[in-house]
Amino acid sequence: MAITIKKSKDTEGLIHRVEEISGVDLSVCYQCKKCTSGCPVSKLAKSPPSQMIRRLQLKAGDELLDSDIIWMCVSCETCSARCPMGIDVAAVVDALRTLALEKKAAKQEGNVPLFNRAFLATVRLFGRTYDIAMIAAYKMGTLKFMADTEKFPAMLKKGKIALLPPMGADRKTTRRIFKKVKQSKANKE
Ligand code: SF4
Ligand code: SF4
Repeated sequence: MAITIKKSKDTEGLIHRVEEISGVDLSVCYQCKKCTSGCPVSKLAKSPPSQMIRRLQLKAGDELLDSDIIWMCVSCETCSARCPMGIDVAAVVDALRTLALEKKAAKQEGNVPLFNRAFLATVRLFGRTYDIAMIAAYKMGTLKFMADTEKFPAMLKKGKIALLPPMGADRKTTRRIFKKVKQSKANKE
């Protein structure tokens, strides 16, 4: 498949920032596409993971932050597990998410950034994700309280949604991690 790269104002593109945030060396990717062939959302995405990596290698800039895979990715880490070069592809997608939020380029389509924020807020508060609190935060953001609720009763019945906050989560450590990330972001600014 041909890959179109728009000319970036920044001639270095995003690759260095992505490598810095993710701790990944992207130069070792040789485009075998094992990450993409195992990715559960790659068929739906216009830019599957291997293509994102290639575009970064070719010094693509901010236009990458508009890519659908950034918010379609379900963080299953299959791509990272399959990469023969040990590239943490999921961390690369995470780094692109971080940059998209930093640069206010996050797509609002489908409210995925809002969902992401709701998820992180509950992890910060409870030490792990807490379904009901996360759903409540998300619904408050969308104001569409009845949307996508058809499966809710069945999931509750099957115990797929926890009503009580997670037990045994190491909240102190989780909060320390969030604090450290915040501090390191502030130091970079
Ligand atoms: S699996 Fe690894 S080496 Fe292969 S295309 Fe994906 S990132 Fe590159
Ligand atoms: S972590 Fe994201 S990009 Fe990687 S395989 Fe899973 S959905 Fe695809």
